[in-house]
Amino acid sequence: MTDPVRDVVIIGSGPAGLTAAVYTARASLAPLVLEGEPSSTSDQPGGQLMLTTEVENFPGFPEGIMGPELMSRMREQATRFGAELQTVRVSRVDLSSRPFGIWVGDPDAAEPTHRARTVIISTGAQSLMLGLPRELELVGHGVSTCATCDGFFFRKHDIAVVGGGDSAIEEALFLTKFADTVTLIHRRDELRASKIMQDRARANDKIRFQWNSRVVELHGEDKLEGIDVEDTVTGERTRLDVTGLFVAIGHRPNTDLFKGQVAMEDTGYLITGPGSATNVEGVFACGDVQDHTYRQAITAAGSGCMAAIDAERWLEATTDHEHSTETNW
Ligand code: NAP
Repeated sequence: MTDPVRDVVIIGSGPAGLTAAVYTARASLAPLVLEGEPSSTSDQPGGQLMLTTEVENFPGFPEGIMGPELMSRMREQATRFGAELQTVRVSRVDLSSRPFGIWVGDPDAAEPTHRARTVIISTGAQSLMLGLPRELELVGHGVSTCATCDGFFFRKHDIAVVGGGDSAIEEALFLTKFADTVTLIHRRDELRASKIMQDRARANDKIRFQWNSRVVELHGEDKLEGIDVEDTVTGERTRLDVTGLFVAIGHRPNTDLFKGQVAMEDTGYLITGPGSATNVEGVFACGDVQDHTYRQAITAAGSGCMAAIDAERWLEATTDHEHSTETNW
């Protein structure tokens, strides 16, 4: 059964979605947040911070805060002002006419589960992973996908970075501020990264390159103690006693739901601007789903605030007109 038309439905519940929820709730728009499902790696409620241990760079928490605790506090703050949170996965959207249709469960159902005057997309992005056994368990315990977030914890450690693109080089360079040595493991014998980044990496004494190599095994019980690396040419396997492994092989935005409906780059990131507006009037996007540059909890939260204000202003400007033209499902 379809419920009454909502002013705001927010899809995704990382820092971007929950900040949008706090703001739209305080603006008395009674937002509905469709959080995603815990079983899914792509739309886990709370987003990537649920896979993080300590967060030391979110302003306001000088002593640091655990990622899941930060998300739980954001949820609490959103619900306090009247946001409704549902732990469900959206299976389909129809953004071709207003009010927009949002399906949960059977995507072929004739009627959408929810209808909304505005939709805020905050479905985030996921870091591509190597797919090794225990890799996800060790995230936050030696395995990381974010040097900016975790580099600080590897002061005087020997660590490795996997990947050969600009991200891998950028992470490796940043990590040399903390680590004693950084081994860059790449599956080929030439880097994909831009020349300027390659030159910087080659000029850095702390960075060593391990070419034609892939990580095949992670060692350590509660935290990473070493990795096995296989030479892709000779098949030889060697152990590296690193305590940190930064996986920097790219990201994938969670935008499958919106393909063909909202403008996106070739890489799948939603295109926004001015502000958080997408090319579909009444649809706004915030957080990592539209940001492949900063990818921080605080920038996601900031853009969630922008999306809330943009949605609120858009509603104010259009609602009278909407009421007279809404289609019936
Ligand atoms: P990317 O350019 O797609 O590079 C991914 C790297 O990971 C490639 O070297 C690839 O190897 C490797 N890789 C992919 N899958 C792998 C696997 N399963 N196992 C091992 N290695 C794997 O991604 P990115 O570095 O995240 O960059 C994304 C975009 O952002 C690029 O356009 C980049 O230029 C841009 N960027 C720019 C900057 C900057 O200018 N400062 C910083 C970061 C990112 P192959 O090379 O063999 O394919």
